[in-house]
Amino acid sequence: MSKSNFTPEQKPASDLTKKKNRNFAEEFGLSLEDTTNEELELARKNCIKKLIDHKLYDENGDVVWNSEPFAFFKAKAAADTVNPSLWLNGKANYEAGVYEVVKDKIYQVRGLDIANITFVRTKTGWLVLDVTSCSESANSGVRLLEEALGESVRDRIRGVIISHSHGDHFGGIKGVVDEENVGRPEEGKIPIYVPAGFDEETVKENVFAGPAMFHRAKYQFGGDLVPGVRGTVSAGLGLTMTSGTLTYIRPTNFISEDTTITIDGLEVEFQLTPETEAPAEMNNYFPEYRAFWAAENCTATLHNLYPIRGAKLRDSANWWRFTEIALERYGKRTDVVFQSHNWPHANTPEDPNVVEDYLRNTAAVYKYVHDETLRLANIGWTAKEIAREITLPEKLKKVWYTRPYYGSVEINSRAVYNRYLGFYNGNPNELDPLTETEEARLFVEYAGSAEKVLEQAAADLESGEYRRAARAASYVVYVDPENKDARYIAADAFEQLAYSSESSIWRNAYLSGAKELREGTRRSVRKREQKSGRSDLIGNLTNRMALDYLGIVTDGQLLAETDSRFRLIIVDPKKPGNVTYKGSEAAVSEEFIVHVYHGTVLYYEGHTEEYLPYVKVPDRGILTIVNKQYSASRDIFDTDIPQILEELDNAVIDLFEYGNFPLIEPRQ
Ligand SMILES: [Zn+2]
Repeated sequence: MSKSNFTPEQKPASDLTKKKNRNFAEEFGLSLEDTTNEELELARKNCIKKLIDHKLYDENGDVVWNSEPFAFFKAKAAADTVNPSLWLNGKANYEAGVYEVVKDKIYQVRGLDIANITFVRTKTGWLVLDVTSCSESANSGVRLLEEALGESVRDRIRGVIISHSHGDHFGGIKGVVDEENVGRPEEGKIPIYVPAGFDEETVKENVFAGPAMFHRAKYQFGGDLVPGVRGTVSAGLGLTMTSGTLTYIRPTNFISEDTTITIDGLEVEFQLTPETEAPAEMNNYFPEYRAFWAAENCTATLHNLYPIRGAKLRDSANWWRFTEIALERYGKRTDVVFQSHNWPHANTPEDPNVVEDYLRNTAAVYKYVHDETLRLANIGWTAKEIAREITLPEKLKKVWYTRPYYGSVEINSRAVYNRYLGFYNGNPNELDPLTETEEARLFVEYAGSAEKVLEQAAADLESGEYRRAARAASYVVYVDPENKDARYIAADAFEQLAYSSESSIWRNAYLSGAKELREGTRRSVRKREQKSGRSDLIGNLTNRMALDYLGIVTDGQLLAETDSRFRLIIVDPKKPGNVTYKGSEAAVSEEFIVHVYHGTVLYYEGHTEEYLPYVKVPDRGILTIVNKQYSASRDIFDTDIPQILEELDNAVIDLFEYGNFPLIEPRQ
């Protein structure tokens, strides 16, 4: 076995990787010495206040955003360790500042968060579209606009529209408005508009599967990687993630049908786009400004039907269909389309069809992947085979703003297959499949020994068969996580795959995997999860969602013997009513029948049987059990079956430890 390469340090691009990147540049007509394209020009256009290498801090003085480590993008030539198209996407996302979208009417602050904050002028003030992922970014966005325009903005916010249920769109809300000022405009307060289902989906995505998803997200976004030409270069949708404070305020207005609302004298059309980029999402049109807000549905990149952090599969059929509806409804009336990530696309005198092309091409790529995946599935191809072969037709392929900086055609086709046919491929081997470790053991055993596997993996690495080398060496890692040669071969192979990946999230995942193979799985809890965001979200669970979450945080086996039904009566002690709560009259606001039944927490919303034992508690008091704070808060409960509360409290696990499981080696 050749010894030369099995070392822990990062490697340069191999000759094969360099060649791959050169071929890519040639196919797409890019010069590697001075890499530019029209998207980079758009990202730089209409800047009225430029930011270079800036930092944001939280209230403790910790840096939560820093674009300075990305200053390598000042170089003209693309690095040979970065796919040239991704290099351009990163360079465009390194641009930061205040930008004019419609002169004197619409502005965006970009490049101080993974998402944009957008301001639309109303009759007497401003409407804010999406508020970035943390209060620090949002707060600074408002301040920068004030500086750029020389007028007050913060005290003239007349409304906020949050396009969808993802944290990078609502997390900065407290940086824009104070909770006590949120409410109905008739009362002089600030309304927050969201699509119907927003609150439920926010919770499902961020709380129910939150710990697993947040942990996996560090591979998607390269959370542990250092920015650099051998590190993270872009998040596809923006430069990188912030580590600022995620906040949440309950919205005031839920949009449940396509409608037009006048907000402080400005007409705003709402187009709901459910089950597209997010389960609850909507676009907006501003007729007076001939401007279309595409939320996160068209974002100057091919997006994800399945983000690799893990999420429910998205519906490509809805995605293309709602985009086509937007095209028909607004296309001819629109001069500029802008959105929550990346930069706007506007018609020009030379090309009056930019907006319509932008919407049509975006719809077309999702439609193509959808149809082609099903055609191939219907003639017997498996999801993996489809992903290997599927490519966009030349005309769609050569559109920069649908290149796969975030999502990829491969993953998207697997998502379409999975949405229609599920994860099972029809082969009975997959009915009761070997686990990752069992499969690895089988492979190594049948090959004869770990040494034999590694000998061939090393040869594959040498000849540029990086996928094969990584897979084979990873089998050895699963059998023997201490095997350094195996770890280093897999890491070296991942790294070369990263260097030629056009998708930022593939690059980040490969590099994160390589880093953990070389250095070991990082088990430190990430700071973001310690900040207030998680508790803000959990604190806003409705009583029904708190019951759902209670089922998730209880260890079912610890309740295996329990069979206990009770009425859960949510009381409002401040309002007089017809129940007694702790000796006083109180009103009933909600009622459930809860059945803790052999390891499960079943419930029925409503009230059926009067004779059952009762648990009376104020609104969201059930969260004290979910949060393992029952013993300190037991006196908010009024009950004739205290033992069930004790049993639940015993079964609730200690809070999930974020970031405490490996992704590239077997779980201990
Ligand atoms: Zn987003």
